[in-house]
Amino acid sequence: MAGGKLVIKNIGLILSGMVERPLLDGDCLVAEGGIIAAVGRAQDLDWENAETVIDARGTTLAPGLIDSHVHPVIGDYTPRQQQINWIDSCLHGGVTTMISAGEVHAPGRPKDIVGLKAMAIAAQRWYENFRPSGVKMLAGAPVIEDGMEEQDFKDLAAAGVKLLGEVGLGSVKAGDKAKRMVAWARKHGIQSTIHTGGPSIPGSGLIDKDVVLEADADIIGHINGGHTALPDSQITCLCEQCKRGIEIVHNGNERAGLLAMRTAFELKEPQRVILGTDAPAGSGVQPLGILRMIAMLSSLGSVAPEIVFCFATGNTARMRGLNSGLIEKGRAADFVFIDRAQHAPGKDMLASIAEGNLPGVGMTVIDGVVRSQRSRNTPPAEMVPELVKAPPAAPGGGH
Ligand SMILES: [Zn+2]
Repeated sequence: MAGGKLVIKNIGLILSGMVERPLLDGDCLVAEGGIIAAVGRAQDLDWENAETVIDARGTTLAPGLIDSHVHPVIGDYTPRQQQINWIDSCLHGGVTTMISAGEVHAPGRPKDIVGLKAMAIAAQRWYENFRPSGVKMLAGAPVIEDGMEEQDFKDLAAAGVKLLGEVGLGSVKAGDKAKRMVAWARKHGIQSTIHTGGPSIPGSGLIDKDVVLEADADIIGHINGGHTALPDSQITCLCEQCKRGIEIVHNGNERAGLLAMRTAFELKEPQRVILGTDAPAGSGVQPLGILRMIAMLSSLGSVAPEIVFCFATGNTARMRGLNSGLIEKGRAADFVFIDRAQHAPGKDMLASIAEGNLPGVGMTVIDGVVRSQRSRNTPPAEMVPELVKAPPAAPGGGH
């Protein structure tokens, strides 16, 4: 599937995804076999004999966005809001990787231990075998339940499960029990996240700061609530005392999200901030949710947009050990091309975002392959890249 040689020319601006150096110099990028081979000035790079050539036409190249918190079930369908093609819609919002926080919306989801393990393994497989519209869906995230033993985590890890669903959505809600299971998961290479805040829907429960601190999961899942946030004092306390990832979601409390981000800056730890949508949820599917979070945090929080982009790209990739999310040699060629939306104020694209507007998406690329062109969901970009040369279409029926 990964493309041959891809050359992107006439890039106007490069967002690196690196919070320590968010803008890169250069106007050209070369990828081979779906991996970034070089980035810099065209005159210094070998851009000949490419199978795919994109003229960026002065638009901005950024790493494909990573949604750190979604709840997929199967294929490109969500039973939660009875929608199909929601993942494709998010691709049109610039998202190229999604991370499951649990396949919790599966009707009749098994809660017995052998059943929950079987479902997690199956979900990991079906999204590894089938990427909706090319989007990388990292799924197979079991929700831990009472009675699980270390051997269960060992079995899950051996079967390829790398994530836990939100701790607290199952029967394990006490800090001490959660702590033991999170530690078993970590020991076997499984990353964990915890539901933070009030209950999301009838039947789920409150997870407060004491439980989050004791459980010590790798990610403080939706620190701004999903939907209901903890009191401000508990949010700042979590940022200060729990040195794990600070995840802010679209489906949460926006004011609390701003508080968490500002606290991370006060602690001089902006590298801990990552973004998600929590979609699908009671508030629906949010195809532009990550772009909306970027515009909201940048404009209301007065943070340069190129820094906020790192929260949805490089920060998440580094925290979760992904090879995408950064414009750097050796990383996956997963990109989004963006430009100022037509008629948006601001002297350029970044200025328009700093004023709270969304950029327009002009193209996405995953593993060096063009997956979408002018977005059907964002406001129209002023300029969009042009696919100058494309490889011959693959023969049909290749499922
Ligand atoms: Zn949650």
